[in-house]
Amino acid sequence: MNKIAPHLDGVATVGIAGHVNPDGDCVGSVMGLYLYLTENYPKLTVDVYLEHVRPEFYYLKKIEDVKDSWDGETKYDLFILLDTSSKDRIGVAFDAFEMADKTICIDHHVSNRGFANENHIVPDASSASETLYELLEEEKITLPVAEALYTGIIHDSGVFQYSCTGPRTMEIAGKLMAKGVPFAKIIDESFNQKTYVQQQILGRTLMESIRLMDGKCIVGIVTKKQMDFYGITKKDLDGIASHLRMTKGVEVAMFVYETGIQEYKVSLRSNCYVDVSKIAAEFGGGGHIRAAGCTMNGNVYDVINNLTYYIDKMLKDSDD
Ligand code: AMP
Ligand code: MN
Ligand code: MN
Repeated sequence: MNKIAPHLDGVATVGIAGHVNPDGDCVGSVMGLYLYLTENYPKLTVDVYLEHVRPEFYYLKKIEDVKDSWDGETKYDLFILLDTSSKDRIGVAFDAFEMADKTICIDHHVSNRGFANENHIVPDASSASETLYELLEEEKITLPVAEALYTGIIHDSGVFQYSCTGPRTMEIAGKLMAKGVPFAKIIDESFNQKTYVQQQILGRTLMESIRLMDGKCIVGIVTKKQMDFYGITKKDLDGIASHLRMTKGVEVAMFVYETGIQEYKVSLRSNCYVDVSKIAAEFGGGGHIRAAGCTMNGNVYDVINNLTYYIDKMLKDSDD
């Protein structure tokens, strides 16, 4: 796919969505495309779907248009998914996607096998927002579109520090900045700022973390009981895995939190040489080389033991 425009020929209705538990790149790319289409193609009827959007993204224009469920009827000529690596990650818009006449997926996950009619997957891109930018006409990118895309890029690149950041990421960020994006405000409000309880659970997890394999692996755990005590949800735990990764000497950080009876969500991060997407894939998950995730069953010790087996193996393989 070169540009999005030819795919709109003969199309009257468009649905747009991202993945479950939407992160900054998901919200940024979905809203970027929604704003681009509504501002440049006024004859199109466009609906946008996302699961609960966190308040830190409320500065995005028309965020109030987001629907969190499908009406069970509306059939779209075209449905576009962003940042969504597999069908089971679609969530609230799954049925609308299945019912649509034509589907497109714009993504950057290496694990994406191409489940839509048309798939535009660029694993080298920092984010789905960067991938989307390349499909748009530069002169049609208004300030609200630029704000959304900039949001997506800074979130998935960790404000231009993760290895997914490339020269092109910086060029695109520069072009968006030239459109007047209030970059310092966006970085601070949507990325840096945390609520007091978020800081507390982060601090507690770091304090109670354990190191394994000569300090090359670090493990952080949050139980359901702790989440109830602080009155927090899974969204408040974002960023803890990345903080664990920053520990000197650590190659792999593992962050595990309880999501149900004998069920844990796992976030994996690595620094230099371990491909954590391979470890996540062993347990039915996926992601990227330096950031991946999966959901696992069993008690917390089973979960950690099963993961450390692979991590240990990969650390040893890289010693050879
Ligand atoms: P997280 O650790 O949840 O922040 O996710 C890190 C990366 O792994 C993100 O790019 C996610 O898209 C991906 N990821 C997380 N959980 C899963 C999963 N269960 N299946 C596939 N990909 C996942
Ligand atoms: Mn995402
Ligand atoms: Mn992404």
